[in-house]
Amino acid sequence: MIRKLLHRVFRRRAARTDGKSLEPARLGPEQHGIRAEQISSAARRTCAALQAAGHQAYVVGGAVRDLIAGVSPKDFDVATDATPEQVIACFRRARAIGRRFRIVHVMHGRETVEVSTFRAARDAETDETGRIVRDNVFGVQRDDAMRRDFTINALYYDPSTQIVVDYHHGVADLKQKTLRIIGDPATRYREDPIRMLRAVRLSAKLGLDLDPAARAPIRELAPLLENVPQARLLDELLKLLLSGHAIECIDRLREEGLHSGVLPLLDSMLANPAGARFLRTALSATDQRVRAGKSVSPGFLFAALLWQQLVEVWTEHQADGTPPQPALVSATHAVLEQQSEALAITRKIASDITEIWLLQPRFLQRSGRRPFRLLEQPRFRAAYDFLLLRAEAGELDPELPEWWDRFAHAGETARADMLIVDTAAKPRRPRRRRKTSGAGPQAETTAAHSEASGVGD
Ligand code: ATP
Ligand code: MG
Repeated sequence: MIRKLLHRVFRRRAARTDGKSLEPARLGPEQHGIRAEQISSAARRTCAALQAAGHQAYVVGGAVRDLIAGVSPKDFDVATDATPEQVIACFRRARAIGRRFRIVHVMHGRETVEVSTFRAARDAETDETGRIVRDNVFGVQRDDAMRRDFTINALYYDPSTQIVVDYHHGVADLKQKTLRIIGDPATRYREDPIRMLRAVRLSAKLGLDLDPAARAPIRELAPLLENVPQARLLDELLKLLLSGHAIECIDRLREEGLHSGVLPLLDSMLANPAGARFLRTALSATDQRVRAGKSVSPGFLFAALLWQQLVEVWTEHQADGTPPQPALVSATHAVLEQQSEALAITRKIASDITEIWLLQPRFLQRSGRRPFRLLEQPRFRAAYDFLLLRAEAGELDPELPEWWDRFAHAGETARADMLIVDTAAKPRRPRRRRKTSGAGPQAETTAAHSEASGVGD
């Protein structure tokens, strides 16, 4: 009923999701509600330059979808009929990237606009499972609309005319809060199993219902995710965890049976109660930050995802009497070495994780010059946020992060008054090796003591 009405409102033409349509709907601002100034100036300039050179150019995909849905877009992508070479010729700072899918990055100041050439719908190269391994055959706009994943992602906005070109009733679906796949769902998932994860993320992010036809084949096809290159999987997973709706996404992944193929780590965390509590706390803190427009680094997120595992390995490394701080260093290396490949963690991310972890025991040191030195650490903020997370997950007394918050905001004199006199016996040199058991907060107390003797500082 509502659908019928919406289709009438949006002047449904002959277009159907099978792509045999002749005419797309062309919607004006009163129908789509986008104001030209909502488009970044870099994207507008990119479209204008391409159009001035005689090409077609539209803002496309997620940005158009998000603006119509009233969400601020993460970035702006442009689609054009110009080939990558022709695009490059239009700009001073532009370069082609990608192999599976060649696109051009156009740089305007600090903003980069991704420009892709319209793709042909049917001629992509596939492997034996039907997965697209290369998609560089160019086509016209109609073809391009057909190979996009969801109807709401196949919308083209021309900033000069302010018209949205809609081949698959994307605007109606969006208003009706339905996520509908273009074409036959099973075929589209086989072509690119990542689309199953995108379905979960986009429906959670925009509060849409996944169309039953798009939902039905997911459980059976979930194992296809194993064929997807790790780097792409990780990319999508990060988008999912940083979407501001991570908790909901994780729940839905489990519901759809997509979970274990994506990140076995999450499954093993959820299997033990402490892990599950930590994960939920970490992800809901991440969701809140993202929704408040604050940044969340992948390093922070991975530090949280891998923390339980680190604590276990850290405990093991202390079993032979190795003091906590060196054990923490070696445990960090061991965990990162084991996970880096599986999770395609880059060096930069690994070094962020390392810093966050290695600073944790230092928060227990609240005497002498050490708290002042910790405050000066470039990664203090991230490490502090991590400490807070651990307290929220019930792993530490909240008094500790509260003290640090006050300390960080106090003046010099007040800070001196806040110092807590270290009553722990100072270990003498040469240091005795101390046998410890347990990790986490308990081991850290010992870690702090050995740190007082200069270990790991
Ligand atoms: P967001 O940017 O919010 O993560 P998005 O939909 O813009 O979401 P991008 O990865 O930026 O995601 O992709 C831009 C557009 O490219 C999409 O809107 C969609 O039209 C198309 N697209 C992206 N990934 C796929 C895919 N796996 N299959 C088909 N089309 C895709
Ligand atoms: Mg996008």
